[in-house]
Amino acid sequence: STYAHILDGKALAQRIQAQISEEVAQLLSTFGRPPGLAVLMVGDNPASAAYVRGKERACAKAGIASFGHHFPENTSQTELEQTIEALNQDERVDGILVQLPLPDHLNAVSLLHQINPDKDVDGLHPVSLGRLVRGESGLRSCTPAGVMRLLREYQIEVKGKQAVVVGRSILVGKPMSLMLLEADATVTIAHSRTENLKELTRSADILIAAIGRTQFITADMVKPQSVVIDVGINRVSDSSGQSRLVGDVHFDTVREIAQSITPVPGGVGAMTVAMLLHNTVLSYKRSQS
Ligand code: NDP
Repeated sequence: STYAHILDGKALAQRIQAQISEEVAQLLSTFGRPPGLAVLMVGDNPASAAYVRGKERACAKAGIASFGHHFPENTSQTELEQTIEALNQDERVDGILVQLPLPDHLNAVSLLHQINPDKDVDGLHPVSLGRLVRGESGLRSCTPAGVMRLLREYQIEVKGKQAVVVGRSILVGKPMSLMLLEADATVTIAHSRTENLKELTRSADILIAAIGRTQFITADMVKPQSVVIDVGINRVSDSSGQSRLVGDVHFDTVREIAQSITPVPGGVGAMTVAMLLHNTVLSYKRSQS
């Protein structure tokens, strides 16, 4: 059998980041300061720490100044609010993001509300989400924006296609669905209460898996010659105790029937970071004009 085309998010993200660093160098020479990103992290969740390191490394490579704020586990809501307020006022900072999840004693939603929407590079503030619903330009959340960019760069037609998004989180599934709708797909959103999920996913020309369940989408759930985008990042350990990342899609069997598929790692995850840098530069340019 022939295998699906691999949508190489990692290579594409590297190309985008190289373009961004050229643009940043020009912006720096024109305006005399680099774009800046502030990352707030609370506690020592190892996955979060790895994501934050990845973001800071990507900033450094692109010439974007990063302002890391790493707080201990027991930090109070007030202290975080004061930090966000200071960052809202700080002219060196174009983007502010709060690395989720936060410890239970903190109210993440109320912190997100406090970020100046013009600096909301994660696109999770209600104003950013409202702009997406209304079809207004604005900062788009990075993971679904990364999926849209991947589809665009690989010239995958979205207009008029049946898109099925499995997952309805505010972080991925909902904004993903709205972005596909904005691009003129016919969109269905599935979730844990969906009946006949398999019939639904088999109708998808473009299937997006944002579920958080290891290898949940199997070949029998996929339409032949469709495009399968795997947003899932799940850490599993094999029999030898080695841990690795796998997606929400059973890659080895689905690649035998799909037309195109994203790998995990090296697919959507890499694009997410590229879109974060893109949003930071966008926010910078808006603040200069
Ligand atoms: P959530 O847990 O917030 O949402 C999962 C969604 O999947 C929910 O809407 C849930 O439905 C649905 N779901 C769960 N079980 C089933 C099922 N059996 N059948 C159908 N639907 C189901 O996860 P996130 O949206 O935050 O993340 C999803 C995945 O994407 C995770 O693996 C996460 O690690 C990854 N991720 C990857 C990123 C990247 O950069 N690539 C960024 C962010 C997340 P219900 O609403 O009914 O509970």
